[in-house]
Amino acid sequence: MTEAFIHYLWQFQQFDQSNLQTISGEKISVFKTGFLNTNAGPDFTNARIQIGTIEWAGNVEIHLRSSDWKLHKHQQDEAYNNVILHVVWENDQPIVRQDKSLIATLELKKITDIGLLYKYQNLLDNQAIIPCKELFSEASNLSKIAILDKVLAKRLEQKAQVVEELYNKNNGDWEETTYHFLAKNFGFKLNSEAFLSLAQNLPLKVLQKHRNNLFQIEAMLFGQAGLLDSVDDYSAKLKQEYDFFSTKFSLKSSALSAKQWKFLRTRPANFPTIRLAQFANLLTQQQSFFSLFTQTDSLENIQKALKVEQSVYWQEHYNFGKKANKKLVGLGKDSTNNILINTVIPLLALYSQKTDNQYIMDKCIRFLETIPAEKNHITDIWESLGLTIKSSFDSQASIELYNNFCMQKRCLQCNVGIEILKK
Ligand code: SF4
Repeated sequence: MTEAFIHYLWQFQQFDQSNLQTISGEKISVFKTGFLNTNAGPDFTNARIQIGTIEWAGNVEIHLRSSDWKLHKHQQDEAYNNVILHVVWENDQPIVRQDKSLIATLELKKITDIGLLYKYQNLLDNQAIIPCKELFSEASNLSKIAILDKVLAKRLEQKAQVVEELYNKNNGDWEETTYHFLAKNFGFKLNSEAFLSLAQNLPLKVLQKHRNNLFQIEAMLFGQAGLLDSVDDYSAKLKQEYDFFSTKFSLKSSALSAKQWKFLRTRPANFPTIRLAQFANLLTQQQSFFSLFTQTDSLENIQKALKVEQSVYWQEHYNFGKKANKKLVGLGKDSTNNILINTVIPLLALYSQKTDNQYIMDKCIRFLETIPAEKNHITDIWESLGLTIKSSFDSQASIELYNNFCMQKRCLQCNVGIEILKK
């Protein structure tokens, strides 16, 4: 037995409600269970309950045993003086408020169907990758949609928080934040930190002055990245250009070291050199990425703007002086969509929060519903259980549900789990 399970029993009134009484025999009628409180203070707030002949408005506190009240030192905390009902699994001693008045107590042990407890225990003990796997198909589409909507909103909020950290570091500069966040995601998983450090040590304003010259942008990016070796004619010229700019803009002291970049276990097309070359070209294409993302309504136009090729040298080389066996193509569709999902949408979500702009949030959802789903082992599991995963809305939500609910056995907070237990 856990307190979380008693929360569930109370919240969904999953016990025999006929002849509901306090331990001292007063009749209980529940009009409102109250709102689950995840902060300090009583577990449910703003409940409305009739006890005996008096209708009360106040809070409800939940415990395994009534004596836990003292164990948790609630008798010393005046926030608990407004508790109108103490809901416990087992009543082992009477509890009074600070003014010595007896707190009405409801004991659930004798009025709860033990089968419900077994069902919950089975979910907790189930070692399957999705604990409710066997029962998942029995849950209604409504419950599935409700939990997917809920977790997707949470995921967007968490991703927006990551952007917010950068936004705060950049003193509220949206343009610089967009550049940093875009750079971070251009490193994909392996080189995201190196890309972010590079952007943080090479101000956008410096790059923008030379936006019309791809060669100069490459010189600054590769030079600051610490990846510039004079091994052929092209790299020697880039180095010469970088030396000039590094003096002009005092860049050298903040340059990265080559050791910060990871090349291992990755295909040449994903080498950081190729991603840097693509990023360099991308920076020459737009005056303001922030305006592009916030003001363009067409997903297709943003996809087109992000789909860049690298310069001719980087179509033929995967590193300085290292020729590729075949032509290296530009950023593919999957990578473009990845940047949309992990950069553009979180950025828009934060912008929508900061400006209280529902239109932008609706745009995020529309984009997610249009971009095709990602495919990985988590989406495969859900598909095998019959969940439809067509768009990135579906894949993002199902990944979140798996990672933050199923893996952590938060079935009592999941609409599917609640429905399964009720059946
Ligand atoms: S969290 Fe929900 S979907 Fe996941 S195992 Fe529990 S009941 Fe099933």
